[in-house]
Amino acid sequence: MLIVSGIPVSSGVAIGKAYILAHALNEVEPYLISEQNILNEIKRFNQAIKQLKSELLNLKKELKKNRMNEFGSFIDIQLAIINDPKISKNPLGIIKKSKQNAEWALKVQMEEIITKFNSIENSYIRERKNDVYQVCETLIKYLIGHESKQLSNDKNRIIVAHDISPADALKFKNSNNIAFVTDIGGTTSHTAILAKSINIPSVVGTQNAKNLISNGDNLIVDGDHGCVIINPTDEVINEYRLKQNLYELESKKLLNLQKLTSKTIDKVPVNLYVNIEDTNNIESVILNNTKGVGLFRTEFIFMDKHRMLDENEQFIIYKNLTKALPNKTITIRTLDSGGDKVIEHMPNTNQNPALGLRAIRFCLAEPDVFITQIKALLRAAHYGDIRILIPMLSSDNELRQVKLLIQRAKDILTSERKKFNPKTLVGGMIEVPAAAIDAESFANQLDFLSIGTNDLIQYTLAVDRTDDAVSHLYDSSHPALLKLIKGVIDAGTKAGIEVSLCGEMAGDPKLTKLLIGLGLTNFSMHPSSLLKVKKVILESEFSKVKSKAKKILNTHDKIEIENLINNLNN
Ligand code: PEP
Ligand code: MG
Repeated sequence: MLIVSGIPVSSGVAIGKAYILAHALNEVEPYLISEQNILNEIKRFNQAIKQLKSELLNLKKELKKNRMNEFGSFIDIQLAIINDPKISKNPLGIIKKSKQNAEWALKVQMEEIITKFNSIENSYIRERKNDVYQVCETLIKYLIGHESKQLSNDKNRIIVAHDISPADALKFKNSNNIAFVTDIGGTTSHTAILAKSINIPSVVGTQNAKNLISNGDNLIVDGDHGCVIINPTDEVINEYRLKQNLYELESKKLLNLQKLTSKTIDKVPVNLYVNIEDTNNIESVILNNTKGVGLFRTEFIFMDKHRMLDENEQFIIYKNLTKALPNKTITIRTLDSGGDKVIEHMPNTNQNPALGLRAIRFCLAEPDVFITQIKALLRAAHYGDIRILIPMLSSDNELRQVKLLIQRAKDILTSERKKFNPKTLVGGMIEVPAAAIDAESFANQLDFLSIGTNDLIQYTLAVDRTDDAVSHLYDSSHPALLKLIKGVIDAGTKAGIEVSLCGEMAGDPKLTKLLIGLGLTNFSMHPSSLLKVKKVILESEFSKVKSKAKKILNTHDKIEIENLINNLNN
């Protein structure tokens, strides 16, 4: 038995079998094949193609069965690549001619295709190379014997990887995968956020767990304490089964709070909203008696489809949300690509993605992309309470450009005689320190504000949110951050507009009383945190937490702040 520790990012306990995601491409070596074995090598290659095809078709059927059709297009792209003779036939010629092994022939062919892709001007087509890369990597895994089991039939798989991109995390959104463990990654990386949204226990930043764990090892993932136990003894397994039962019992008990109105003991209403990354599993918005969706991260619908969606496609998605969530406010954030959220056909700054052409900066550089989305949103807002949220604003000038483009979208819709809501509310995310410091100006020009603490912490403390090496510095109770949050809440209150908080802090019950004490009355979080936070709200007394929060706001020492927060919570 071995215990590896990391950063807990999604709570709960999972007990299952390790499923290692290998970097198979790095392991391919060439070797010579004798004349009489060439036919065998060809057979091996054809067998791998057949296996991947049948596994993808099975996966597609299963997704359909589980009503996860939206992932079907991803599989269709992979099937089209396998059926292309450049992948399924050309390597056979290389095997015959060079008398080298099948995996090497495939790698040579893949590199040739990728070189050609790199010189294509159309960025959408150019980025399809990632799909080619993925298909070849899977085939190579079969050929070198990494992955002989059915992709979809193993139950209780714990995915262990060096890293999982948000796009990969979407692929593993399958009930057979019960936990994620990654060697790198920070607390609020988007992969961590997705794990939380899928609601499976996850630990990141384990440094070298991947090297210590073998495929099929028994694992326990403790998503609350950030530890991974490799090949635990029966005694430890029993102990964790007990913990699992307690966790489930606790979750069931919390269900009693679902219908209750969210307010403090002294009757201050505290609105709860939900963060979503897709339009599935939105029933929690209604079941938990929330005010609606506080943050829909729309970039994930584009990541899912591996392309931009046109105005009508987007309109239908947003309009369907209004139908599914009648009488709820639905806050839809415009595209926030970039940073660690790479959408395949869109440019991403390599030098320093978090400080690059992210979010609204990208949209202002590509106004057609922005206007298309705004038109779809304005049209959908005709059917329900949709409001638009602009990510990563940092200056007045940017806000002016945003407003001009929104006006242009309205003018086009008018000339196209399409129905839309001209009074759709427009809010801004406060996640750049400049915007937090100048919050009054933003509050005076927008209909609502939403504090994105995941990025606000990253930018205020100069700590990469995805980097485990500095995760100990990623501090959600840093005095500078608390002052910024307080300033934004006060600016919103003064301007008479709603201020919500939609970063991961909103879902951390340890911080609920502190945030209420700072004056926050709108929280947006993942469904899995809603009832835990609601429980704390129901136990809070605004007048008391307010004075304690004031004291915390005037404290600078980290340990002292921690003690004061503990005291506030007890
Ligand atoms: C944030 O930065 O707090 C936020 C909610 O946005 P995202 O996590 O998508 O960057
Ligand atoms: Mg953000």
